[in-house]
Amino acid sequence: MQDVEQEETGFDPETRVLCADEACIGVVGEDGRCRLCGRPGAGDG
Ligand SMILES: [Zn+2]
Repeated sequence: MQDVEQEETGFDPETRVLCADEACIGVVGEDGRCRLCGRPGAGDG
C-alpha cells in the first residue's frame, strides 16, 4: 500500500496563513507566528 500523494515537505503553500496584520505580507509559520514580523497569527489568543 502506497500513497501517491507525498506532501511531507513540512510546509504546504496551500495551508499557509497570512499574517494578521494587513500591512504585513508575511506568512504565519508552523510555530503560529509570522515569519516576517514575528506577530502571532489570527487565532484564539
Ligand atoms: Zn507579519
